[in-house]
Amino acid sequence: MTHVTTKARAGLDRRTMREMKEFLEARRVALLQSVRIAMERTGASDAARSTEPVAQATETLLDEMQVALADRQSRVVAQIDVALEGLGRGEYGLCRDCGAFIGLARLKALPFAQRCRPCQGRAEQEERHDTERPRLGALAAAELT
Ligand SMILES: [Zn+2]
Repeated sequence: MTHVTTKARAGLDRRTMREMKEFLEARRVALLQSVRIAMERTGASDAARSTEPVAQATETLLDEMQVALADRQSRVVAQIDVALEGLGRGEYGLCRDCGAFIGLARLKALPFAQRCRPCQGRAEQEERHDTERPRLGALAAAELT
């Protein structure tokens, strides 16, 4: 008598996991590099700076933008770390509502998506009770997953 085992939840086979892992790690490296460059530029010595007040103001503004960007990127890196942890446990990429695999294409576009497209659509509809028409482009993209 064979013991019936439920098939592993959809998606996330080894190949997909490896692909997502490589994708996330590449993103992580790129982000960290970008953060480092931003920080180095921000920390540039005053000697390298313009003495023109207007140019200084522009530089300050750019610095602030760099810092804000670096800050956001750092947070994305933290999210990637969480995603990589989830991958290690085989929990990554599963819809929190229905448990189905979210889909590689969707995960690559939105690495931290927590729901599959249908569930996300439903959740968003529940969030705002307006009658926004479904985006046909988004639906077409869902067919690719
Ligand atoms: Zn779902």
